[in-house]
Amino acid sequence: MLNGLSVDVEDWFQVGAFEKVIDRADWDGIDRRVERNCDAILQMFGDAGVKATFFTLGWVAERHPAMMRRIAGAGHEIASHGWDHARVFTLGEAAFAQDIDRARKVLEDTSGSAVTGYRAPSFSIDVRTPWAHRVLAEQGYAYSSSVAPIVHDHYGWREAPRFAFRPVAGADLIEIPVTTAEVAGRRMAAGGGGFFRLLPYGVSRWAIRQVNAREGRPAAFYFHPWEIDPAQPRMAHAPLRSRLRHYTNLSVMAGKLRRLLGDFQWGRMDDVAAREAARTA
Ligand SMILES: [Zn+2]
Repeated sequence: MLNGLSVDVEDWFQVGAFEKVIDRADWDGIDRRVERNCDAILQMFGDAGVKATFFTLGWVAERHPAMMRRIAGAGHEIASHGWDHARVFTLGEAAFAQDIDRARKVLEDTSGSAVTGYRAPSFSIDVRTPWAHRVLAEQGYAYSSSVAPIVHDHYGWREAPRFAFRPVAGADLIEIPVTTAEVAGRRMAAGGGGFFRLLPYGVSRWAIRQVNAREGRPAAFYFHPWEIDPAQPRMAHAPLRSRLRHYTNLSVMAGKLRRLLGDFQWGRMDDVAAREAARTA
């Protein structure tokens, strides 16, 4: 069972939780840590013999072209996380089309590899964006992994399917939702993010085993470079809830990830998407 492993490549100050505290106009004056964190991830993946997908912001790729070449050169997939982490439902159709077109050009130019996959910032494709998947299909994307089929305080599309589906009639585009597990008839997040970092590792292992063994489907898992960086600057002015979620367990994350890499079989999202496409044909 090949599971999809992905890294959402954004820096510590670009997360949705700090959007109201740090203005995009100030980003260029802030100390960037994404390149050293990605190098640590490349080392970890290399040690484990694992290939993965790096959903990268165009803004980051433009400033770190050598990093993009190193990621692609190590055999990983370069895919799009949009330009500057604006959530899809804040953009509207025309601005979304521009955002992903701009990001893709820079991602392809810097990495030297074709981009066929997209992940919306903060899983922001939901009921408010009925045009989003169509725009992705029109721009020739093979797959998207942009839907969280669950209710969360700042994202989620509760009614969405839990596994790969074709969101646009007549198009080949595949959507691979982030993994959820079913417990007593309820869906719980099981594909990374705060769920993985905050709860004991055994909960995640159990949930992914359920999905693989009992449901016979692949998992789609994600994390961020800043999650393995306990030394990142602290945002004292962010809301307490955001700070708790962002800073808890950063020091244990790398160890948890190494266990996860060893306990399951992982690969690039485009490879998982191709298998899922064949299955849902
Ligand atoms: Zn993101």
